[in-house]
Amino acid sequence: MNQEKLITTTVGSLPKPGWLSGDERLWASWKLAGEALEQAKRDAVRLALRDQERAGIDLVGDGEQSRQHFVTSFIEGLEGVDFTRKRTVRIRERYDANVPVVTGPVARSRPVFVDDARFLRAETEHPVKFTLPGPMTMVDTLADDYYGSREELAWEFAAALNEEAREIAAAGVDVIQFDEPAFNVFFDEVRDWGVKALERAAEGLDGKSAVHICYGYGVKANIDWKRSLGSEWRQYEEVFPLLQASSIDQVSLECHNSRVPMELIGLLKGKDVLVGAIDVATDEVETPEQVAQTLRAALEYVDSERLYPCTNCGMVPLSREVARRKLEALAAGARLVRAELGGA
Ligand code: ZN
Repeated sequence: MNQEKLITTTVGSLPKPGWLSGDERLWASWKLAGEALEQAKRDAVRLALRDQERAGIDLVGDGEQSRQHFVTSFIEGLEGVDFTRKRTVRIRERYDANVPVVTGPVARSRPVFVDDARFLRAETEHPVKFTLPGPMTMVDTLADDYYGSREELAWEFAAALNEEAREIAAAGVDVIQFDEPAFNVFFDEVRDWGVKALERAAEGLDGKSAVHICYGYGVKANIDWKRSLGSEWRQYEEVFPLLQASSIDQVSLECHNSRVPMELIGLLKGKDVLVGAIDVATDEVETPEQVAQTLRAALEYVDSERLYPCTNCGMVPLSREVARRKLEALAAGARLVRAELGGA
C-alpha cells in the first residue's frame, strides 16, 4: 500500500446497529449478553467492514463495534483498576465523566483486543488498522488512588499498551493507531512525557504506528470549547514538532470545518498525514467536491503518497445512514483528486 496515493481511511469508530446497543451513542449499552452478545459484536464488525468497503474506503477497521467506549474498554481489561465504584472527575479540563478508579499496580495479565484484531484480519482482504487509546488519554479518563503521579501511571499504561499492540500487529494488522485527544489540552505534559510514553507504547511494532489528535466529538462541552479557541486553532503547533521528531509514523488531525490553519501540516515533514475531510459534528453530508477542496489544500503541504483522506474524528455519534453517506463522499472526493494527479 506504500506506493498508492490518497489511501482513504477512518479515525476508527462507526455507529453501532440498534440491535446491538441502545440510544446513548458515545457509551454503548449492550442489548444482549453472553455468547449472543459476542456473536452480535462480530456480526456488527462484518457490517462495518461491508459499509467501508462498499463506500470505497481503502484502509479499513472494525468500527470499534465490540467496545463500549474508546478508552475504558481497554482499561477494563487490565489489573489494578476498580470498575465497581466509579467516580466523577473532570476530563480534558472540559467535562465531567464517571470513570473507573486505579486502586493498585496496573498490569496486562491477558490479551484485551487481540482476538478482535485476528477476527478483523480474517474478515477482509483490505489492509486493516486497529485503534487503542494513548497513555496520556487513558490517564486523563480515570481517577487514581494508587500512583499519585500522572506520568508514572502513563508509563505503566504505555508498557501494557505495547504488549497489546505488538500482539495485534503480529496478528497481521497494518496500522496501530493510538487516540490522544489529551495531547490538545495538556501541552506541558505532552512535552515532558506524553510523546515519550506514546513512543514507548508503539515501540518495536511490525507495521505502522499512528496517533489521532482532535478537538473531540460534537458534544456540547466540545462545541463550547471550540467557540472559546478564537479564529485560529493553533494547538497542533505545540504538538506537531514533537511528533515530527518522534518515531510515530502517522498523524491524524482535524481539518474540514475546523479553524486549524492548513499550513500546520507543514510541521509534520516526513510523516504520513491523515487529513480530516469529513466533519463528524454535523449530519450534513459533505459533497465529493468539498472533500476534494480540503485534500487539494492539504496537498500544498504533504505529498500525495503521504496524504491519507480521513474523517475528523470517530463517527460513532452519527446515524448509520449519515455515516455511510459521509464515507462515500470521502472516497468520491479522494477519487476526484487522484484523477487530477494523473493516477488511479
Ligand atoms: Zn477524535
